[in-house]
Amino acid sequence: MQMKQLTLFLVLIISILSVPAGIASDDLRASDPRAEERAGMIAEIEKDVRDTAELINRRSFDRRVMDAMGSVPRHEFVPKNQRRNAYDNRPLPIGRGQTISQPYIVALMTELLEPEPADRVLEIGTGSGYQAAILSKLVSEVFSIEIITELADDSRQRLQHLGYDNVRVRAADGYDGWPEEAPFDSIIVTAAISHIPPPLVRQLKPGGRMVIPVGTRFQTQYLTLVEKSPEGEVTTRQLIPVIFVPFTGGHQ
Ligand code: SAH
Repeated sequence: MQMKQLTLFLVLIISILSVPAGIASDDLRASDPRAEERAGMIAEIEKDVRDTAELINRRSFDRRVMDAMGSVPRHEFVPKNQRRNAYDNRPLPIGRGQTISQPYIVALMTELLEPEPADRVLEIGTGSGYQAAILSKLVSEVFSIEIITELADDSRQRLQHLGYDNVRVRAADGYDGWPEEAPFDSIIVTAAISHIPPPLVRQLKPGGRMVIPVGTRFQTQYLTLVEKSPEGEVTTRQLIPVIFVPFTGGHQ
């Protein structure tokens, strides 16, 4: 009899305890309705990483990088008419002839920078602000330059509204970098250019890394990793063929 009462008591306690837990997970789904789609995107990225492991010299990406990819709401960075495609593993148009990069490429470029929490990072080509938002979760400060003023203004507002308050956006030609804030621990360029801009190499700290698509509209572009040794020696390594929108402005 006593045993039965105890069992009943336990069942009661468990069901009481499980009610708030149930509410909590419903709450989570309500506050982040795209979480499941984002998880699907992460699975696609992981598959691409395995398929390209030889070329990129990695079998998986850093947990912090993948957590950032899993938490930034990509649907907030694409135009309304693209929202339903927001978590597809492909580039999407963001207006003004520009694109938000494929999630696998965003993850790969972020991984190649080997971001550390205290880093200050320069981005050339803010576009939608998505790549800047990913970086903002991983480093202390992000400086991002966009040549199309309207895109720069929209992204600055979007990032602020979403609470990414360690990102600064400037409307300018990024070829010359951001000398007032240099040097940077790493630099990421998200538009394809025929050569590596010397001002950006100068603004990279010794021991720093730059990731940049090198090539033009008419050649194969290669995602290129530039490393500056602690002694200041610069080496470059071509990784995988990519397709980026062209670098515009005074130097192409
Ligand atoms: N990182 C972006 C992808 C942007 S596409 C994102 O996450 O959405 C490349 C961007 O580079 C475009 O918005 C384009 O206008 C910009 N761009 C091209 N040439 C540039 C230059 N010289 N300086 C700064 N931005 C440039």
